[in-house]
Amino acid sequence: MNHVAGLRCVVCGAMYEPEPDRYTCDDDGLVGCLDVQYDYGRLAAALNPAMLAHRQDPTIWRYVELLPLVGVPPVQMVPVGGTPLVHAPRLASEVGLGAVSIKDEGRQPSASLKDRASAVAVAKALEFGSEVITTASTGNAAAALAAVSASVGLASVIFVPGSAPEAKIAQLLAYGSQVVLVDGTYGDAFDMCQAASARFGWYNRNTGVNPYVAEGKKTVALEILEQRDWRPPDAVFVSVGDGSIVGGVAKGLADAHRLGWIDRMPRVFGIQAAGSDYMVQAFESGEDIVTKPAIEASTVADSIWAGLPRDRVKALAAVVDTNGEYLRVTDEEILAAIPQLAAATGVFAEPAAAAGWAGVVAARAAGHLSAADDVVFISTGSGLKDVPAAMRAVGDAGVSGVEVAPDIDLDELRARLT
Ligand SMILES: *Cc1c(COP(=O)(O)O)cnc(C)c1O
Ligand SMILES: [Zn+2]
Repeated sequence: MNHVAGLRCVVCGAMYEPEPDRYTCDDDGLVGCLDVQYDYGRLAAALNPAMLAHRQDPTIWRYVELLPLVGVPPVQMVPVGGTPLVHAPRLASEVGLGAVSIKDEGRQPSASLKDRASAVAVAKALEFGSEVITTASTGNAAAALAAVSASVGLASVIFVPGSAPEAKIAQLLAYGSQVVLVDGTYGDAFDMCQAASARFGWYNRNTGVNPYVAEGKKTVALEILEQRDWRPPDAVFVSVGDGSIVGGVAKGLADAHRLGWIDRMPRVFGIQAAGSDYMVQAFESGEDIVTKPAIEASTVADSIWAGLPRDRVKALAAVVDTNGEYLRVTDEEILAAIPQLAAATGVFAEPAAAAGWAGVVAARAAGHLSAADDVVFISTGSGLKDVPAAMRAVGDAGVSGVEVAPDIDLDELRARLT
């Protein structure tokens, strides 16, 4: 029993039944992503913050009434969710904001926010009786799917561009997935995965295709609000590639608002790499997001490298409807943000995650935030995901270890330290 009222096309509004093989709209194709609709009247009667306060389960399943599942997932599923909200007063004073806190999604089981989405997708695959689940990914969605599938013993076939960071590929292989390394872009891996899923009947977790993954992603917003005792921040910052996380964040905030758990909507800010700024372009120009063609994209932040964001319709609405902004940050700013963030807070972020912090800095400099604002930034993935990028970041920042002989005189050593 759940509270799902149907699946609604984000382009034309057509409603569909939540059938196992229902992914996108018949008329709009891949841009016609489906958004899960709930019966909010029944939901309001079934769940409220006081009831949540009594729940022991720290994982995403504490919000099960707000998720599109028929039952609860198997107990052996690796625990997903319940990540800390880290207060960062030094960051707040560095940029001149009232408060800054970081939702550290690097502390998920596979070390990125994508675990939330994959947990829901795997639960749906089990519910539908699928024997194989598949996805294409730049790396983190793949690692997340591999981890969660492994925990419940579901087979997974994963398509990644061969250029994905080695740590991400090693993670997939360790979890026991069948990994297809496509000698091409994420787009090429995506197309191959779509075709294989259709031909072989594998359950399809692809971002912007599977209607349920965004529901998993929205739990990050519910957790942030619950960790703040339902006091909404002024703004939430998140980096954007395919646009599924930002759409999910806005959905979680909107669910809480609609149920009366928060009294106003925070502004949602989407941050993109300057070399992969499809959404920023569309936001600035006002061109039709449904028909805007793919752009040539390239960035050091592999997790937000997307020439054609798959969830672009929801991603644009997430920012426009909440009076937020789409902003771009350079690769240099992204890399610089890694040691800044780590040194000021103890949170180690991969480039795509650090981009969110670079976005806060850019937004403050551009006058989009004021000195009293209370800002949450979602650090979407761990710095250990991409060690070469972290090495580059510290090199660019001019920091390095002090190299010494094993028999160095201690006074000499002391003199060489700062
Ligand atoms: C996937 C991902 C993003 C971007 O999410 P989208 O849904 O593609 O916009 C940002 N950061 C990290 C670490 C990710 O893995
Ligand atoms: Zn449609």
